[in-house]
Amino acid sequence: MAMPYKHEPFTDFTVAENRQAFSEALKKVEEEFGKDYDLIVNGKRIQTQEKIISINPANKAQVIGRTSKANREIAEQAVKAAANAFDSWRKWDVEARADILFRAAAIVRRRKHEFSAYLVKEAGKPWSEADADTAEAIDFMEYYGRQMLELKDGKPVKSREMEINRYFYTPLGVTVVIPPWNFAFAIMCGTTVAPLVTGNTVLLKPASATPIIAAKFVEVLEEAGVPQGVINYIPGDGAEIGDYLVDHPQVSLISFTGSREVGTHLYERAAKVQNGQIHLKRVIAEMGGKDTIVVDKESDLDLAAKAIIISAFGFSGQKCSAGSRVVAHQDVYDTVLEKTVKLTKEIKVGDPANPENFMGPVIDQKAYDKIMSYIELGKEEGRLVTGGTGDDAKGYFITPTVFADVDPRSRIMQEEIFGPVVAFTKAKDFDNALEIANNTEYGLTGAVISNNREHIQKAVHDFHVGNLYINRHCTGAIVGYHPFGGFKMSGTDSKAGGPDYLILHMQAKTVSEMF
Ligand code: GLU
Repeated sequence: MAMPYKHEPFTDFTVAENRQAFSEALKKVEEEFGKDYDLIVNGKRIQTQEKIISINPANKAQVIGRTSKANREIAEQAVKAAANAFDSWRKWDVEARADILFRAAAIVRRRKHEFSAYLVKEAGKPWSEADADTAEAIDFMEYYGRQMLELKDGKPVKSREMEINRYFYTPLGVTVVIPPWNFAFAIMCGTTVAPLVTGNTVLLKPASATPIIAAKFVEVLEEAGVPQGVINYIPGDGAEIGDYLVDHPQVSLISFTGSREVGTHLYERAAKVQNGQIHLKRVIAEMGGKDTIVVDKESDLDLAAKAIIISAFGFSGQKCSAGSRVVAHQDVYDTVLEKTVKLTKEIKVGDPANPENFMGPVIDQKAYDKIMSYIELGKEEGRLVTGGTGDDAKGYFITPTVFADVDPRSRIMQEEIFGPVVAFTKAKDFDNALEIANNTEYGLTGAVISNNREHIQKAVHDFHVGNLYINRHCTGAIVGYHPFGGFKMSGTDSKAGGPDYLILHMQAKTVSEMF
């Protein structure tokens, strides 16, 4: 039996040796930039003329790699391969499947900085964010491997005299995994290994901005022993193959993490029973957030300002958990705003390969344009206090931006921006603050900064989010410690990294035998 689960420690970059090792990893990965990566279907490498080109968002001219691009014909082959492989994979010993996850975790741990270096270059993550992303990927493998061992015999049920009853879990079948680019390793890995360890076969369609890290990970899974056809790597367009896969009658489960727009679209498509389909599809959808930090009257305002900075500007606000709204009690509003602005002005923005920079670029031109247009809107809807500028000449850089005095119903207070922009609004009292916090269609994360026990208690019940954090930032959920997933339009509340997650990938079977 494996050792008890414990999360992977973060690298301490104040230690010179660690900094040195990380710098070397950055140099090493750079040597292999520009390479071509093949599709993998049924264990076979497939090359296509058309490519997805992955670039460094901090330096558009730098090509990280190029992947072949699946079309419908290849997607169909992949579905067939996964459907064939399912028949034997589902019957593998659970221990053997879990061992693959443990081996893959060990391989990644050995090559930790290499993976993190790819995240710096392909996703634009600052060192510590990249390191946390890789650690989380390791955590998902270690945690889900152990969870599966616990679930392997199902759960106890009663038997009457002359009967033996069993209740256990069996996999669903072919699973389409569509992960996001923002946790290009962690979420891609977690949403891939969960269906695998539960006995499903996987079609992995990585995010088009970050396909290379996914290709590297699929190689690790192969090395760790995932058989042919069980994992298939098929980058491609959402419109070309995403919908095709979701519609496919042989697909049983769709695991999606990304925008609300795409998530609801896939949810609706998956509900339609297609010709030849003999089951209802299941969808796990983790979508957006418009997450609020409530600052109470009785609270540590330095802590509040720090929590706001981490929540709003960590990875340039490109997290569905990012704190993009601050609701502060009227008596402390001015002070917390001032403290936040002071810290914001100290933030260094630039190439994330340089560890001095707390914030790197945003992911691509589309994101840059969208965030800049929200900043323009913010100037009409509120008062720009700091930031508000961008530069997309070399990479997609936007300064950390704070708006004050914004109406809680305004668009920048309601719509997900997915960038380094935070808006402040004033509350009359704590009840009013919670009311404002709950007034969006999302319900993913939230934070309350307060020293008032009664208010904290109230928030526990009335702050309607999947992940509520008290006296800390609202990002950075840790596998096995903070199961992650949201309410309302944030998704199906799957609680990734939690004790109920794997069951979503299986169906329970009752077997009752008389004797
Ligand atoms: N799990 C991440 C966190 O707690 C957010 C995931 C996401 O942005 O998709 O910050």
